[in-house]
Amino acid sequence: MERREFLRRAAAVAGVAALGGAAPAAEEPKLERRNEQPTMRYARLGRTNLAVSRIVHGSLHTNRERIPLLAKLYEGGVNLFDTSHVYGGGRSEEAIGEFLSQDGRRKNAFICTKMDIRAQLSARRDVYKTAMERTEGALRRLRTDHVDIMMLHGCTTLLDYVKNEEWLRAADDLKKQGKARFIGLSEHAKPAETLTLAAETGRYDVAMVAFSLIKGAWGSLGRTDVESIRPALEAARKADMGILAMKAALQADKIVAAVPDPKLKRAGPSPFQLCYRYVLGIEGVAAVTCGMVNMTQVEENLRVPALDLAAGDIERLHRAAARSRVCGFCGTCLDACANRVAVQDILRFEGYHHHGHRAEARAAYAALAPGQRATACQGCGACERACPGCVPIRRRLEEAHRVLA
Ligand code: SF4
Ligand code: SF4
Repeated sequence: MERREFLRRAAAVAGVAALGGAAPAAEEPKLERRNEQPTMRYARLGRTNLAVSRIVHGSLHTNRERIPLLAKLYEGGVNLFDTSHVYGGGRSEEAIGEFLSQDGRRKNAFICTKMDIRAQLSARRDVYKTAMERTEGALRRLRTDHVDIMMLHGCTTLLDYVKNEEWLRAADDLKKQGKARFIGLSEHAKPAETLTLAAETGRYDVAMVAFSLIKGAWGSLGRTDVESIRPALEAARKADMGILAMKAALQADKIVAAVPDPKLKRAGPSPFQLCYRYVLGIEGVAAVTCGMVNMTQVEENLRVPALDLAAGDIERLHRAAARSRVCGFCGTCLDACANRVAVQDILRFEGYHHHGHRAEARAAYAALAPGQRATACQGCGACERACPGCVPIRRRLEEAHRVLA
């Protein structure tokens, strides 16, 4: 939809509300469809009514050299491209902008970007001004006059930011000005809490939450957070928010390697495909974002939505995930550590390193304050006692420091 048309429709809706007109009778929502291809599957992204490809391009590692991967994804029917100004210092947005600005692709795809204003939210200063400036920068790099979804980035430990009035005022104004059609938020650690709060505000159309097979497996360890996500997903569903899952397959190979189960190692779907497909099977999840850095990954992921998972595969995966002791990004250790060591971030960076993004992983680790790094760990074990995934955190921190420092 062109921006002019988008503004016209927004004004029409606002006009009905201002006149106190009766809401039209509930009818089947009309989905907005773009770049649909027969081999891809699509799902309604909550009240946005965007029909999004069930595989979304997550572009933490995207840059101009990876434009051929974008082209292959587009050709395969991917229609939502997710990015942020923090990815590669803006290079990810620039690459997506360059690709989508050609051959009429912008009108045939959806863009989601995220703004990181945590410093301003934390200082309670310049929140509105920075949000507006960051949007202008994103639009310039993306070579467009609007994004389809603008997200507040990284609400991990900052749950009160979800309700920050200055940010929400900026979000409303971005919508009114036609620069962002829908508003969302992303988080890396506490999907249940974040989703519940976001649904309560009624201001978020979309949420991108970290959820994976590992969290789904904690029930079998008897220390589960997985049940808490169900009421949160239900609250989000009632608010008709669109849910995108992320971090769904981080260290998938380690999960499968952790068990001597030949059936999981047989030829067939890869560990990554299995993990992504598992998350797509969770009710309420519209799509999963996948970071991809080579053509093999792109081709594998394009096949995920149409994969049939056998019931036995899910059970085997659950058992494997429970035994893998891989971090599931729940954030529990953030509250457990009196020294405020950034356990979850460090393990996430180690995951990036493990998947070949070595320079980025080391840079992210170097950007942590010294008191947050693995070397600040006093070895008390409080985090391990709290961790629902029984991750041997102290050992993992040492290993992570060795490769990241
Ligand atoms: S073992 Fe280290 S990281 Fe864990 S709670 Fe203690 S000081 Fe924090
Ligand atoms: S180490 Fe454990 S407690 Fe910490 S984020 Fe990972 S799974 Fe959660």
